Parts: sequence; C-alpha cells; structure tokens
Amino acid sequence: MKTSILEKQCVEEQYLNTQTVDEVCEWQIMHGVAIKNSDGTTARHCPFSIAPMTMKRRVFEHLKTVTPMLTNLISKVSEDMPFLQSSLSSMANADPFFGRLMKMHAQIHGTEAAPKTALRKPLLLMRTDFMDDRQQGAKVIEFNGIAAGMGPFGQRANEMHDYMRRQWPEIYRDLVESPAAIPADNACLEQLAHGIATAAQDIRATYGTPTGQQEQRTFLMVVQKHEDNVYDQHLLEVALQQRGVRTVRRTFDQLSSQLSTGENQRLILKDIGAVDVVYLRAGYQYSDYFAPELREANCCHTLSQTRVFIEQHNVAVNATVGQQLATSKTMQMILTMMTAQELTHWGLSEENATLVKSVLADMLPIHAEAIAWFNRDAEKREWVLKNQGEGGGHCVFGDDISAKLAALKSEDYDAWALMQRLYPHERERPTIAVRNGEQTLVDDLVSEIGLFTAYFDGKPVTDFEGYAGYLVRSKPAKENEGGIHSGKGILDSITLID
Ligand code: ADP
Ligand code: MG
Repeated sequence: MKTSILEKQCVEEQYLNTQTVDEVCEWQIMHGVAIKNSDGTTARHCPFSIAPMTMKRRVFEHLKTVTPMLTNLISKVSEDMPFLQSSLSSMANADPFFGRLMKMHAQIHGTEAAPKTALRKPLLLMRTDFMDDRQQGAKVIEFNGIAAGMGPFGQRANEMHDYMRRQWPEIYRDLVESPAAIPADNACLEQLAHGIATAAQDIRATYGTPTGQQEQRTFLMVVQKHEDNVYDQHLLEVALQQRGVRTVRRTFDQLSSQLSTGENQRLILKDIGAVDVVYLRAGYQYSDYFAPELREANCCHTLSQTRVFIEQHNVAVNATVGQQLATSKTMQMILTMMTAQELTHWGLSEENATLVKSVLADMLPIHAEAIAWFNRDAEKREWVLKNQGEGGGHCVFGDDISAKLAALKSEDYDAWALMQRLYPHERERPTIAVRNGEQTLVDDLVSEIGLFTAYFDGKPVTDFEGYAGYLVRSKPAKENEGGIHSGKGILDSITLID
C-alpha cells in the first residue's frame, strides 16, 4: 500500500511524544474504552483519533431532528405485522436466516388471517448511521436495530477529546479539524441508561413483582459466548446499576434452560427473579442460535425458540424480532423506494415524511434487468452492493460488484440490494490515529456518524425527544469499511462550527 508523505514523516519523526500517546491510551483503558483480548484476561484500548472532526451546526441539528422521525417510522413499521410479513417474504425466501426470523415473527404475532397478541413491549434502541456526502448532504448508511452498541464509547470519545483539550491544548489545536469549533455534547451512555431504566420502571409498575421474588428492577443482557466488546456493554450496565437496576448477563444457550413463566405472565430468570428488560447483544447472525452440544436435527431451533419465548411475556424487549425485520437492509430499500405520501401511512405528517425521504440514499433491488443495466451503464464507483449481513464485511464495492452479481444465483437476488455510494468530505487537516499504542498521521479521514435514539412502547424515552447521543467512527477515505473492531475505523467525536 502507498504511504503518504505525511504518514511517512509521522513514522520517522514520531509526531507526538510517546508519553502523550501513552497517557491517552491509559485514559482510555481506565475509562473502559477497551476491547478484550483473546487471552480473556487482558484488554487493548479502542483505536481513536487524537482530535475531533468538525461539522456544521446546522447539519448536526438537522440529523438530530430527522433521526427521531426515522425512529418513529421504524417503531411503527416494527409493529406492523401484516406489512412486515408481506413486504419481506421474498427476501426471507432468499436469505435463510431471515427466513428463520420470519417464522419466529409468525409464531409471536400470528398472521394477518390469524393474528395473536404479543405480550412483550418493544424497547427500540436504535443507531442510525449517516455519512455526510459532499454533494448530496447527510444520508443514512443503515439502521441498526439489534445489538446497536458503542453508544457508551461515543460518550467516552467526547470525554477523551475534552481531556486532550485540557491537558495538551497545543497538540489539540494543531490536530483538531477547526480550532474554533465547539464540542457537540454527547450524553449517549447516560441517555441510553435513562431510557432502559424508564422502561424497567414501567414494566415493574405495571406488572408488579411475583410473590416471593426480589423487587429490584432487573435488566437482562443477552450476550455472545466469546464476545470481546464487553467493556462497552459493562459501561451501560454500570450506568444502570447506578440507577438502582440490577443487571445480569446470559447467553441464549444459558437462557434456554433458565427461563420460565411467573405470575401475571412475567418472565422469570432462574435464581434471579422477574426480568423487566431484555436487551439483545446477540441474535443478529445465524451462528448466535447454533448450539452444537444439542445436536439438533433442526438447526438453531432451541435457541430461536428461547427468543420467541421471551417475547411471549410481559417484559420490555430490545430488539424484538419485528424491530430486527424493520431495520433490515431490505426494509431500508423498501422505505427508500416509497413516496413521502406512502410513508404517511404510518402516521408521519407529509412534511416529516418528506424530511425522512431527504436523508434516504437511493437503493435498487437486484434482478436480471438491474444487473444488465449495472454492467452496461452504471458508474461503478457510485454504488455499493450489500446483503442482509450485519457487523461488517458484507459489502462489495466498485469494480468487484459486477463479478459478485455474476456469481449470484437468481434465487439469491432478493437477499441483495444496490445502494448509492456516499463520499463524505475528507477532513481538512491531517490528524493522528492511535491503534495499539501506535500513531499514524492520516490526511484523508472521513467519518460515519451514528445517532442513537430510544423509544419505549412507541414513545420517546430520552431527555431529548428520543435522541440519545452519537457515535463517530472515522476511517481513511481509501478504506471501504470503517468498523472499529475489524477494519481501519477509529473512535472520534464531533465539534461544531456555525
Ligand atoms: P453492516 O451492517 O455490516 O455495518 P453497513 O451498511 O453499515 O453494514 O456497511 C458497512 C460499511 O461499509 C459502512 O460502515 C461503510 O463504511 C461502508 N458502506 C456501506 N454502505 C455504504 C455507502 N452507501 N456508501 C459508502 N460507504 C458505505
Ligand atoms: Mg454498519
């Protein structure tokens, strides 16, 4: 790979003295901004940008206004059983995992001909990711409705940049995109905890404590077995504990033998008692339901039934199967292809529906004619090909798209979509990225901005009308995907200029 002159200089001259970098890395570990190593007993700091990006206040305010509207729409679509089942059926035929989710959905809600009442109350904790395209302005990359993490790290990134600004003002001024810009507040961790605690309170107040069970509000986080992103999760748990909520962590595997039904159709966790909120940080990929020890004839049956069982109780749930379906890439495409008028079907005013439409980037379904058009007429760099996968590594870019399309079987088409590729502004000044304690000067950083929202039972549950806070992940423009875990993504924060 070609190294820019600035990057080279940085390596040769050690742009920042190692003590500064060491101290910021230590700050990160000390404040839980870390990822667990595979040895299970040590951790590394989360990669980060030494100084924040800058954006126009007007753009940021616009995103803060429109994201709760999007959330409101997704919240309504999530509960629209007939629409979910009819609009996603062909995608579910093409994608086996979504096929399974659709079966679970029908178990929970029945069908249009024979509907059932699902007892759970939906707690929508969503992160809507945007890129601010140079020409078209800010547009949605995707909705994350299940296991939308990193909100706590988003708040910490602000705090870390604030620490930089106070401790090393000269360095900060040198590396921030606009020295005069003002940090954009970010109380994401606090607001998410507030939203969850509010939901827990509501469930406890409405359904009470079954006889003989402990009375403390209880939050159950469903986790993956070998999760390495545990500190982001623990930060949320600690914030909940501070609000008087008891927190417990279990895998689907553990839950398959630890859940039962209590008085008043309450969800009971063995040795703990009634659960008020279930929060899934697992379940967005097929492998989360795979239990090899069970030697199941019908793969993934037991653990997917555990998820269905949860939704059949008086408990707050994030994410419900409905929310997961409503935040799929295909639903994003379907909503994008609708007119503003059609979006008003879910109770949005025409004005809000128009605003919502203005932030949705074009998406196209895959079929033989679309492939022929793409190969013949499309500007390849203007598109991204994606399937229903979550968590990075599922997108195909530029010249690789035609080969991928050619390799798809026609029965796979409905699992894929083309999306207009966004090209955000590159940062105007080079800044320093720190990964594993090593610094690199990056002169072409671009950012993906995720806005968190929290709705419970269809209503906003934050102090900011549903908006909770944000997460910024930046990456060199030449990298396609900007995951923090994988890829070249680094944690960042926002400063605002007028
Ligand atoms: P995932 O569910 O895997 O996170 P995303 O849709 O977020 O799927 O895609 C992963 C990454 O690919 C994004 O974080 C972004 O860096 C890049 N990407 C996806 N769609 C686009 C797009 N339309 N324009 C530019 N980059 C994109
Ligand atoms: Mg993403």
